[in-house]
Amino acid sequence: MRRWRNRLVLGWVLTLFGCLTAAAQAPAELAATASQQDLAAHMRYFHDAGGEATVDAIRARSADFQPLPAGGAAFGFQTGAFWFQAVIVNRNPLEPRWLLVQDYPLSDLLDVYVHHPDGRVQHYRGGDHLPFDTRSVRHRHPNFWLTLPLDEPVELLVRVQSQSSMQVPLALYTPTAFSELARYAELAIGLYYGILLALFFYNLVLWLALRDASYFWYLFHISAFGLVLFTLNGLGFEYLWPNSAWLADHSVPLSICLAQIGMQQFSRHFLDLKRRWPAGDWVSLGVMAFFLLLGVAATQLPYHLATPIASAAVFLSIGWIAVASTMVIRLGYKPARLFLLAWSMFLFGTAVFVALAFGLLPKTFFTEYGVQIGSALEMLLLSVALGYRYAALRNENERIVREAKLQLEQKVELRTAELRSALGQLEEAHVRLRESSRLDGLTDLYNRSHFREAFEHLLSQARNTHRPISLLMIDLDHFKSINDTYGHLAGDACLRWTSNTMAVVLAPYGALLARFGGEEFIAALPGMSLVEASVVAEELRQSLRNQPCRVDGIEIPVSASIGVHCVDTSAKNSIESALQVADQALYAAKAEGRDCVRML
Ligand code: GH3
Ligand code: MG
Ligand code: MG
Repeated sequence: MRRWRNRLVLGWVLTLFGCLTAAAQAPAELAATASQQDLAAHMRYFHDAGGEATVDAIRARSADFQPLPAGGAAFGFQTGAFWFQAVIVNRNPLEPRWLLVQDYPLSDLLDVYVHHPDGRVQHYRGGDHLPFDTRSVRHRHPNFWLTLPLDEPVELLVRVQSQSSMQVPLALYTPTAFSELARYAELAIGLYYGILLALFFYNLVLWLALRDASYFWYLFHISAFGLVLFTLNGLGFEYLWPNSAWLADHSVPLSICLAQIGMQQFSRHFLDLKRRWPAGDWVSLGVMAFFLLLGVAATQLPYHLATPIASAAVFLSIGWIAVASTMVIRLGYKPARLFLLAWSMFLFGTAVFVALAFGLLPKTFFTEYGVQIGSALEMLLLSVALGYRYAALRNENERIVREAKLQLEQKVELRTAELRSALGQLEEAHVRLRESSRLDGLTDLYNRSHFREAFEHLLSQARNTHRPISLLMIDLDHFKSINDTYGHLAGDACLRWTSNTMAVVLAPYGALLARFGGEEFIAALPGMSLVEASVVAEELRQSLRNQPCRVDGIEIPVSASIGVHCVDTSAKNSIESALQVADQALYAAKAEGRDCVRML
């Protein structure tokens, strides 16, 4: 009975939409236990290229409707309007209300017409050119509540007009099924943007702390990329610009351009292209300039022109980054390896998604969300790569500092050694200088001033030890005539000769011998009494007498007069008086015919 009634009603529907019968798809039967129904297999479409046709005109042309192509209701960028038609029979007695959902968020305008067998027509409007609040359920995908009476076939006619890609995957859901579906989708979206947000804040803190520009461009890239997906998912329209049809259209190409500029700038910085591969850096700058121009142009260009150009350019842009990172890896920059791996994740995720779109892979969670999974992994790996790069740079810096320190230490050591040797030389020079200041230049005997110092010392020693000390005052006889006879140079040589003789004779007695001035000498004999000293003086006189001075083969006889005096160590002004007395003794020797020794 029921089957009979169904057949009758169906027949009525087919008659009602007479000309639809020829090419009609099987009606979408919503089974008694069904909670959702994909409409692709039950839909036919018609392309109204002018976009002018009214609903009545379209219904009159139902013979021109075609089944959907194999890939479903996806036609790329199109002009005019697309019409979709399906017959639906609700067999579920518990579910009179069904939500018609378009599983694609970017269409501009949707008109939904529901024709009931009793002639009632319901009309709903949707799409992102209408304010978000007009939606039946506040959801990122356009949706419409339909009341589908039990066992009654209704005709669904949907008109779609859009600057964005013509994609109209329609499905019906019971309220429960839709909320279940939304639950999982919301979880996946929440997880994805949660990861992006966590990475954003993590790297924001690092950027604020380290002030490394790479972190800033990473933040720029992740924000712009997040915005692209936010827009493509319909979340931009839902949350950011629910009333702006202009932004609903232009946000896609604009955010793509922004993301690409951020991506290129980030990779330039990360790979240090300017230094490592200047030619590649120019290409990156060129790509950035292209996206900048495209972004500006996208504010004026129609969506169906700007978006495909931007989408195609994305692949070139990512490809270029892969080339640049490979090049930099070959040049020996290790952090670029993680960087390339990160981009490969993104490319892989996108490739999986594209393969799904072309029917090469089955629809699973991983294929459907390939872009999201790939990009989340990409962002995660890029963040790790940033850390690795930072550590690599820090190690490199530490190595440079260590080497510089080592070099500095070696230099300091070298300079210290040089300084030590210079100091040694200076000390030696100083000793020599001090020595030379004490010596007489001609005879190398002590000079008069040193004699006074040293004699004072000997005198105080003599006082302390209560021992005698004697003085010999020695003057060469008739020296003027030697000069006159043999010349001044021969006189000098004679002075050196006699000095040497005196030093040799007096050395065993521990005498302090000095040139007192001209051809006059003085000797102090510590520990010697007047008598002992006069014996030494006599020995000296004879030695001089017996060893004539030899100059240029000529023998010049030399003699000396010597005054001897034993110093009164108890007297106050003993040095001056002692010298005076010794001098007097010398005078006495001169007076008594020279070449003799006299004591006082
Ligand atoms: P006397 O026996 O009385 O000491 O006679 P003298 O000629 O030795 O004494 P006098 O004081 O008249 O002359 C000292 C001479 O010694 C004068 C000077 O030309 C000479 N004489 C002094 N110093 C030097 C010197 O450094 N080199 C030379 N060649 N002669 C000197
Ligand atoms: Mg003399
Ligand atoms: Mg003299």
